[in-house]
Amino acid sequence: MKLYNTLTRKVESFKPAGDVVKIYTCGPTVYNTPHIGNYAAYTYWDLLVRALKADGYEVKRVLNLTDVGHLTSDGDEGEDKLEKGARLSGKTPFEVAEYYSKIYLDDYKKLEFLPADIVARATDYIREDMEAVDLMTKNGYTYETRDGVYYDTSKFPSYADFAHLDLSGLQAGARVGFSSEKHSVSDFAVWKFIQPGEKHAMRWDYLGRPGYPGWHLECATIIHKELGEPIDIHTGGIDHIPVHHTNEIAETYAAWGTKLSRFWLHCDFITIDGQKISKSLGNVYTLEDLEAKGFSALDYKMWLLSGHYQGTRNFTFESLEAAKNRRTAWRARIAACYQKPVETEGNFTKVLEAVNDNLNSAEACAIIDNSILSLNDWRQIDELFGLGLIAGTPDVSDEVYDLIHERDEARKNKDFAKSDEIRNKLEKQGILLKDTPDGGIWYYL
Ligand SMILES: [Zn+2]
Repeated sequence: MKLYNTLTRKVESFKPAGDVVKIYTCGPTVYNTPHIGNYAAYTYWDLLVRALKADGYEVKRVLNLTDVGHLTSDGDEGEDKLEKGARLSGKTPFEVAEYYSKIYLDDYKKLEFLPADIVARATDYIREDMEAVDLMTKNGYTYETRDGVYYDTSKFPSYADFAHLDLSGLQAGARVGFSSEKHSVSDFAVWKFIQPGEKHAMRWDYLGRPGYPGWHLECATIIHKELGEPIDIHTGGIDHIPVHHTNEIAETYAAWGTKLSRFWLHCDFITIDGQKISKSLGNVYTLEDLEAKGFSALDYKMWLLSGHYQGTRNFTFESLEAAKNRRTAWRARIAACYQKPVETEGNFTKVLEAVNDNLNSAEACAIIDNSILSLNDWRQIDELFGLGLIAGTPDVSDEVYDLIHERDEARKNKDFAKSDEIRNKLEKQGILLKDTPDGGIWYYL
């Protein structure tokens, strides 16, 4: 497999370091209702895992749920997103996290994502976070201020390398309003102290005061505990590169003296009708919103897979309709394979080759559109994409099969009343018919 590695800014040939491919995915902050844009990354990383499995690798993948410590700004300012969600909804932060985690995990099922081997909640790793801060401090990478323990980025000379940051430019740009006791604008909190009078329901005693971990730390500690660094592939969105991933790398080096990951994959955002997804623009669609308009979660997954993970994708309902039609057409072709087996060998290989070329799912879809495929090819395609193609298009009972043939006969004899009667009867059972030169083929609603 070839993958674009953010670390080297090149497409490189990928092989795991050991027997198992160790993958970590930065997961969601579970404080509000997820919109469709939140699922783009997980669709692409689902494809990554499925492709590695199709290539014969064993995969161990960890996904985290951020249920504490993610402030509203990346610059250690603002309110904790969970606390804010709790304040707005009148729930406790724990209830907020539980409520939205369930929505995410239910939606993942609808989208037929392979479950991660470990779903790690940040709040389950607080002790490990403290141990990591202890190590960073022991190794000379931190300093304490009134509001937290900070990472001294000047102690890590390659801090700017991963994101190609211009630190002197950042420093100059941040003079105005840079009021904290941080030594440098790029320094960041590994642990935050709760100030007297500050309301923060999630709190743990550390260094003699109540506090909570800085956001980036959870990923470093979860990886250290569950996978062991360096891992093979770390995934996230491009917005994670300059702060979150840069800081994870710095923390790992400071605590354990190791490299965090060999490969880094980042996907781009999606826009809606050419605009950023935002509440003020009224374009925040959920999977439920799409369902209300007649599109399933898997139609949306089909839409995502019709493009490339590294490009900005522009979502429109017209393009979603095209994706839905493509998925329906594929299911109709599968139904046709049940009725009249297609004999061909090896066309799935071409599909897999396209995906192995830096996850080029757009090219893979075009190959599927234009290739003759057997039922066996389709089974492997469904395994690779997780689009519910086969399950939604099962073989039918003998009784239904006989009815379809009875209808074909009626059509041949121009008995359209009988033909329509059978069609309606089948439709009531959720079975749709499509007429082809070889007779009616079926698929399920
Ligand atoms: Zn992360």
